[in-house]
Amino acid sequence: MMRLAVIGTGYVGLVSGACFAEKGHTVVCVDVDPAKVAMVNCCKPPIYEDGLQELLDRNVPARLSATTDLREAILTSDVSLIAVGTPFDGEEIDLSYIVGASQQIGRALAAHEGWHTVIVKSTVVPGTTEDVVLPILERESGRRAGHDFGVGMNPEFLKEGEAIADFMSPDRIVIGGIDERSIRVQRELYQVFPEVAMLETTPRTAEMIKYTANSLLATLISFSNEIGNLSAAIGVDVAEAMRGVHLDKRLTPFSGNGDRVKPGLLTYLAAGCGFGGSCFPKDVKALVAHGRRAGASMDLLQSVIEVNRRQPGKMIDLLRRTRSDLNGARISVLGVAFKPGTDDVRESPSLSVIQSLIDMGALVTVYDPVAQHEAERLFGSSIAYAATLAEAVSNADAILVMTAWPEFRQLPLLIERQVRTPFVIDGRRILDKFSVPAYAGIGLPFAG
Ligand code: NAD
Repeated sequence: MMRLAVIGTGYVGLVSGACFAEKGHTVVCVDVDPAKVAMVNCCKPPIYEDGLQELLDRNVPARLSATTDLREAILTSDVSLIAVGTPFDGEEIDLSYIVGASQQIGRALAAHEGWHTVIVKSTVVPGTTEDVVLPILERESGRRAGHDFGVGMNPEFLKEGEAIADFMSPDRIVIGGIDERSIRVQRELYQVFPEVAMLETTPRTAEMIKYTANSLLATLISFSNEIGNLSAAIGVDVAEAMRGVHLDKRLTPFSGNGDRVKPGLLTYLAAGCGFGGSCFPKDVKALVAHGRRAGASMDLLQSVIEVNRRQPGKMIDLLRRTRSDLNGARISVLGVAFKPGTDDVRESPSLSVIQSLIDMGALVTVYDPVAQHEAERLFGSSIAYAATLAEAVSNADAILVMTAWPEFRQLPLLIERQVRTPFVIDGRRILDKFSVPAYAGIGLPFAG
């Protein structure tokens, strides 16, 4: 078992740290935010993720702790994982957190007495580990990568909302290393996942695998949305059209006994009000910028971004077909999180829709089972907040379903029980289109 320091205690850092601790490694999570650190040490998850509370309960403090003291964490560990944020700054990937963490790690490495391997887990554009992180580590430590310490790149593929399950049962583990020893250390780290396919490669290829995977999934979503918008315009329900497409065995293969296997890919081949989150939007933009700098045109991925930028606006378009003047209209927005199972609202399509509604003078009420506090933080008293789904539904002229929370499937039942009949606009196509009296959805011809 290894001693591990995880730098950055966010969605990826904390989940990785808690899961590695659960598997038996000794983990110290580092963050610059003392509030997060204090919460972890008190067994309180600073983020919402199913199963995280139980992992903290079982592993803090015996195998999992948190600190703001990065130097001490490095000096007492064999491996460090860099899991800090890598936002998009409007022009290109913002590596400032990566640079800051690398400088601190490098300074600590100068005093490290044993062998230490630094592994980049954050999503970084190809070349970053070898061309940015490694030189900083060497400069700050006065030591040589490959001779005095190891350097690796291990992208993370977990999905928010299912992060613990994904980390504990990953589809694959990708490990890139600058040399055989850097690969071997990561192999040892992941020995606790013996069943999982492991791909060993260079840091640059590991970085590229992550961007390629995210860009493909984002492309499927924007493709589905473009087809959905066309379908609605020409009198076709995209959900039915996609059902026919999904029957292709290359998309939904049969298992040996003739049953369809889990149609994971099809989640991404479905029209909706657009993708959000902390990864797809920024990662596709960063790859486009990086690709252009390398001389590639990146036209397809640029269009993926553009289709997605416009997609939340389709919800407003649909709403305005039910009522052209939204001034004074009572609109309930269901869902603020960018997807179900998380309280993360970064780049959530819901945010731009709420802002447009406020700008048009609508009286907005928001309900989200776990991300409500984020809406309160962002919109304050300019909108109202419902404590329950039932409260959000009562009194609304129209209801916009922005997040596919399972709870929202109760809408037909709640609407049936009340006298008012709100117009339901389904941005995630989670409801049967005949289950409520007045229904409109993305990718569905508008019936009025
Ligand atoms: P996050 O913003 O939730 O967490 C990053 C944390 O790093 C913050 O708590 C911040 O305070 C801390 N930090 C910044 N600089 C630091 C420093 N010098 N020392 C210690 N802590 C520092 O970010 P996240 O969502 O966990 O993403 C982290 C990386 O993982 C990103 O590159 C992201 O693209 C990638 N990723 C994210 C997901 C996801 O679903 N969120 C999935 C796969 C990969």
